[in-house]
Amino acid sequence: MANGKPIYVSRPDLPPLEELLPDLQAIWSSHVLTNAGPYHQRFEQALQDYLGCPHVALCANGTLALVIALQSLRIAGEVVTTPYSFVATAHALVWNGITPVFVDIDPDTCNLDPNRIEAAITPKTTAILAVHCYGQPCDVAAIQQIADLYNLRVIYDGAHAFGVCDEGGSILRHGDVTITSFHATKVFTTFEGGAIICPDAKHKQRVNYLKNFGFANEVTVVAPGINGKMNEFSAALGLLQLRYFERHIAHRRHIDTVLRRGLEDVTGIRCLEFDRARTHNYAYFPILVESQYPLSRDELYERLKRHGFYCRRYFYPLITDFPPYRTLPSAQPDRLTHAREISRKVLCLPIHGGIDEEKAEILARLIREVPR
Ligand SMILES: *Cc1c(COP(=O)(O)O)cnc(C)c1O
Repeated sequence: MANGKPIYVSRPDLPPLEELLPDLQAIWSSHVLTNAGPYHQRFEQALQDYLGCPHVALCANGTLALVIALQSLRIAGEVVTTPYSFVATAHALVWNGITPVFVDIDPDTCNLDPNRIEAAITPKTTAILAVHCYGQPCDVAAIQQIADLYNLRVIYDGAHAFGVCDEGGSILRHGDVTITSFHATKVFTTFEGGAIICPDAKHKQRVNYLKNFGFANEVTVVAPGINGKMNEFSAALGLLQLRYFERHIAHRRHIDTVLRRGLEDVTGIRCLEFDRARTHNYAYFPILVESQYPLSRDELYERLKRHGFYCRRYFYPLITDFPPYRTLPSAQPDRLTHAREISRKVLCLPIHGGIDEEKAEILARLIREVPR
């Protein structure tokens, strides 16, 4: 999410560097640096075991994962998607020559509203690309029902959803294909990285071709692939990180509880709720700053920044506000009223390893007690 300059991401929850050093030494002495080396294989296997999904393909980042996932299903024409996401969701469509058709969100979940999808379907529609926003699971049953009715593919952008489970296991298993991201800002990180969760071995084979220039062997190219491979360093980091992941989630869960308690009954502040019946990853702590609150959303953002708490306005502006998209008919503001409203009010509070209980209390107090 950089603008050409480096972004500072607070990650005091990275594993101890000493624990990574033996792996770095092994990579240096083996001279196997990338192209499905031993760390790549082990990390892929570990992810498959952790997620309970047997066909995971590692990727260089989440955006390429999405570009490749769409290619792997040969998606074309128009795809119904959400304006309330990181801009890469729509970019991946455009990089495949696909026209995004934006549909409003359900204000309770911030996810694509299944009730509005059908009205956006045209003869050119081939798929639905939905995002599990903030790790909140989409209504996968409703989306699948529409897809079945209109013979559409379903792709999930699960960039926020690593570690989230519903009754049947990881939510990354849904749809025709799902991607996730391991970027430095995500709940689970390899600095840059991502994965494609494939439905079967055949699909994974195609993805493996696509992420390696289409090479099937040294002299055979079977598709116009791209370079989407994860290197050995990122894979080693991921493998180590996975051992700490449950601990990170437990910490985030605790901070989530502290923040919710601290923000209870604050006039004009609404904490978004996550479906408690499922395992959540506490990747984000989104609040809505309503008009009854004494400060505007941006004034609160600045106030917290002055006190050392760096919040993020995910997702503001909407994807449909950016020049490549805003002239599309489906991007017209009056069609996306819920997304617009939430985008204007939302603030994601910091919830990561650098926020302990004491800091969370201070953060909540700064929001609760605003000097008039
Ligand atoms: C971060 C993110 C991506 C892109 O992932 P990268 O690994 O940064 O390329 C895609 N979609 C969503 C919703 C994201 O938040």
